Amino acid sequence: MTSDHPCIIIGAGAAGLMCAAHAGPGTLLIDHAAVPGEKIRISGGGRCNFTNLYCGPENFLSDNPHFAKSALARFTQWDFIDLVDRHAIAWHEKSLGQLFCDDSARQIVSMLRDEARRGGAVLRLGVSVAEIDHRDGQFVLTLSTGETATAPALVLATGGKSIPKMGATDFAYRVARQFGHRVTDTRPALVPLTLSGAPLEALKPLAGVSLPVRAACNGAGFDEALLFTHRGLSGPAVLQVSSYWREGDAVALDLLPGRDALAALRALRAEAGRKSPANALAALLPGRLAAHLGASLAPRGNMADLSDAALRDMAAALSDWRITPSGSEGYRTAEVTLGGVATDALDARSMESRNQPGLYVIGEAVDVTGWLGGYNFQWAWSSGWAAGTAIAAR
Ligand code: FAD
Repeated sequence: MTSDHPCIIIGAGAAGLMCAAHAGPGTLLIDHAAVPGEKIRISGGGRCNFTNLYCGPENFLSDNPHFAKSALARFTQWDFIDLVDRHAIAWHEKSLGQLFCDDSARQIVSMLRDEARRGGAVLRLGVSVAEIDHRDGQFVLTLSTGETATAPALVLATGGKSIPKMGATDFAYRVARQFGHRVTDTRPALVPLTLSGAPLEALKPLAGVSLPVRAACNGAGFDEALLFTHRGLSGPAVLQVSSYWREGDAVALDLLPGRDALAALRALRAEAGRKSPANALAALLPGRLAAHLGASLAPRGNMADLSDAALRDMAAALSDWRITPSGSEGYRTAEVTLGGVATDALDARSMESRNQPGLYVIGEAVDVTGWLGGYNFQWAWSSGWAAGTAIAAR
């Protein structure tokens, strides 16, 4: 059996659902999963950090940092907030401009399903695509059901490779390559970093300790929380720098961000001279971390015994602690995939391929990767809207 459509979207995640709401009646939206928008449902601890008040192109990584500007400017965080408000979904700002649902991420999935239905799209779940051809101006898809579906417009919205357990695949990259697109190197991002050998053994006892830090790597720095784990380093600060980290690089941790570490240590020496450094540091840092650093930085004597030079060394260690991870936890836990379909052969306004007219690539499949904090969903909404409205106007 063959069905003809004005547009077929593969992938009913964040970007695909948004695109389906705008691409026009008769659009076929297919997904191999049993339910749409699974990553939305589990995101933000079940409350979905759906956008960020301060979202701008500077919050994204891409080989072409200008590419995301057009879509982000044409469908902004304010447009998405409007949509959420129209559906009477209550939300709040948690911190740093990050907006979350008050109740449940499921509300965002329902909202997008409603919007796609209202736009006239037909959702088919549990269906995958065995083969794609292009002839006589039509994409011809052979579906896993044995059916054939055709359309003059085809949208790749199957996301990146993170969390394969949830059905993530490299499908978009394979199809993009089939139509002559380049795919940049991909790697897990927004991911915990792991340690091995002596550094892991030394820091393992700190598992569970969390504190606000500034974490920096390769020119990027983030003031957020650090969490020591039994495998290495995590927490928002580390997830953020993981997108900039490469094998062999050290991550620089300022354990007293925004504070003059030397002045703080001098004050401790004056006020708590009879305490051991391990005990005195507990006034500045979580107890277990203070004990670890006190024992390694100043194993003998009390605070009062420390010279100015020793305090300076200690201050440097607290404000610029270098740790070299051995790797990351990989796609198993990465929130996103860094890299993807290269932007050089995509139109930034419509997401349409310059190699194959009628082909569109949106969302995480594209080489545009956001910071932690609602930016990745905003890219999915903006790029999905850009492609959907362009297809409807064909
Ligand atoms: P996806 O949402 O991943 O959708 C892709 C869809 O394609 C899926 O439905 C999948 O089933 C389908 N698919 C894949 N391969 C095939 C195939 N071969 N055939 C058919 N269908 C296929 N970002 C934020 O901004 N805020 C957050 O709070 C946040 N939290 C996150 C928490 C977790 C645990 C994870 C993993 C990610 C989180 N993200 C968050 C990132 C965000 O989920 C993604 O960037 C976003 O979902 C990407 O949208 P997308 O539509 O491109 O891809």
